[in-house]
Amino acid sequence: MKKRLFFLLLALPLLLGPRPARAWGFFGHRLLNRLAVYTLPPAMIGFYKAHIEYLTVNATRPDARRTVVPGEAARHFLDVDRYGDSALTTHGRGLPRRYEDAVARLGEDSLLRHGTVPWTIAAMKNQLTAAFQRQDADAILRLSADLGHYVADACVPLHTTKNYNGQLTGQRGIHALWESRLPELLAADYDLFTGPAPYLDHPANAAWAAVARAHAAVDSVLAFEKTLTAQFPADRKYGYEARGSATARVYARDFSRAYHARLGGQVERQLRYASRLIGAFWYTCWVDAGAPDLSQLPRTTSAVEALRLAREAADAVAAPAGAVPGHED
Ligand SMILES: [Zn+2]
Repeated sequence: MKKRLFFLLLALPLLLGPRPARAWGFFGHRLLNRLAVYTLPPAMIGFYKAHIEYLTVNATRPDARRTVVPGEAARHFLDVDRYGDSALTTHGRGLPRRYEDAVARLGEDSLLRHGTVPWTIAAMKNQLTAAFQRQDADAILRLSADLGHYVADACVPLHTTKNYNGQLTGQRGIHALWESRLPELLAADYDLFTGPAPYLDHPANAAWAAVARAHAAVDSVLAFEKTLTAQFPADRKYGYEARGSATARVYARDFSRAYHARLGGQVERQLRYASRLIGAFWYTCWVDAGAPDLSQLPRTTSAVEALRLAREAADAVAAPAGAVPGHED
């Protein structure tokens, strides 16, 4: 009962507001940035709680600017399987952990096509640390929200494969099943408590470890959906549900529950893992910046930041709808 109440308090604001998005979906990204706040130590949690609405609402902003900012689309994924079996090893044919080395070996065009999420996380870790050093509240919030998004993306198995939507195996739609349908339907029953965020001795390695962990799950994500599809007639695999004033075809509840069970709670585990890792990145940046006192920083969003957000939102609306290279649904 208690767990459910906590979840409702935590998640209610997530269900309000416009929908569509990709990657953990609108709901998952917002939930993760919120959950991460509760993993922080006492010296940080006051500031982050005061800004929890900002961190929630802006959890999906990196997706919104995919078509606006050049290079943005690549930041959300890494097609590990483009690079052979040893892509994630730290030697030989393994992908270089330094972005400059990766550019030198593979060329930036190729990197932008096949994704850059672990390098993006490492770069943003340094930016957030610098923002803490300057005690720049606007930048701390902006970069925390963004970093939370990219860390969350790195924890999604289908963000680590070129078969990101099952499009190569006749399983189109599986992306949204895993990262949107399951959490939206079942998160109220998930146990999402994690311990306090740990300090990361090697933040870049932690980003690569998240990608490796997610990638190791790709086979089961695809295989279990295939097995279940063979057991469910099409009219029981899909159903129709109201979405605002429209009706949408969705994966049926029974099918979704069966998939969750077959995955042994994998989505729930990844949500827990991702929220703790987001908190760990925020915490590590703060420690590496010398643990500055956050109690004197403003508790409301500045006028400058509000204006910047409004401008960014307007740019996103005005951007041409054309496809950008990278994972497209
Ligand atoms: Zn994303």
